[in-house]
Amino acid sequence: MNTVHDIREMQRLADAHRAAGRRIGFVPTMGFLHDGHLSLITAAKAQCDVVVVSIFVNPTQFGAGEDLDRYPRDLARDAALAERAGCDTLFVPEEGAMYPPGYGTAVDCNGVASTLEGASRPGHFRGVTTVVAKLFNIVKPHVAVFGQKDAQQALILKKMSEELNFDVDLQIAPTVRESDGLAMSSRNAYLDASDRAAALSISRGLREAEAQYRNGERSADTLRRTVEHEMRLAGLTIDYVALVDARTLEEMEMLERPALLAVAARAGSTRLIDNVVLQER
Ligand code: AMP
Repeated sequence: MNTVHDIREMQRLADAHRAAGRRIGFVPTMGFLHDGHLSLITAAKAQCDVVVVSIFVNPTQFGAGEDLDRYPRDLARDAALAERAGCDTLFVPEEGAMYPPGYGTAVDCNGVASTLEGASRPGHFRGVTTVVAKLFNIVKPHVAVFGQKDAQQALILKKMSEELNFDVDLQIAPTVRESDGLAMSSRNAYLDASDRAAALSISRGLREAEAQYRNGERSADTLRRTVEHEMRLAGLTIDYVALVDARTLEEMEMLERPALLAVAARAGSTRLIDNVVLQER
């Protein structure tokens, strides 16, 4: 595995792969890798000749007062994990090269970006779509793999990719969880023992709602309340518990189409998100 910091060098490497007929798989991350990230690398490797993993804590997707400054970073550890999972090139651009002084271009995705995370974190998705568009132009992937853990992000990036005609096969891989159900996240590193125990109520609540759905419950209100009850009992501060159309993210009353049950909450000062898709098998 090699590590590339320079944007031009990454583009020339991508050109060489393409000229040689090699398929490029791409997994963009903010680093502090866990098994969720590694599952995306494995999925990319299974269908591509080379896999590029980017590590870039993108400042433009963090709001004022969010955790940009304390976001966990460990490049040496990430490099070892990525290589073991099958990464061929680690791309680690400098912030000043991605956003040089006077930088002024952004990609905006309207509609699906205005609800849920978009409503709670103004400007967040504009930062995400902009950096991913830039990374697609640098890494030139045939396939890019994103996680269902960030369901709304994956949907927005699919829309952006289609609407801006990126020639990339954008894929979504399932959420990887700890053995007790907690969705893996780099931000789990912030949780002390009691916050972590409380955070477990998120996946527990989602599982309970899913069981109710399997038993025939179709009222969004009832399913939402099940999740909220678990989370409140554990002392979490709920940001939202939403039941939305899995494709359009429009609110639903009765679940007659595939639905996304999406949650955001705070355990102590740590903001966590999780979701489950409810659809008939
Ligand atoms: P991040 O480093 O948090 O920006 O995430 C990079 C990629 O990994 C995104 O596509 C995420 O959706 C994905 N990801 C994060 N956590 C998980 C998880 N627990 N399971 C699967 N994919 C994940």
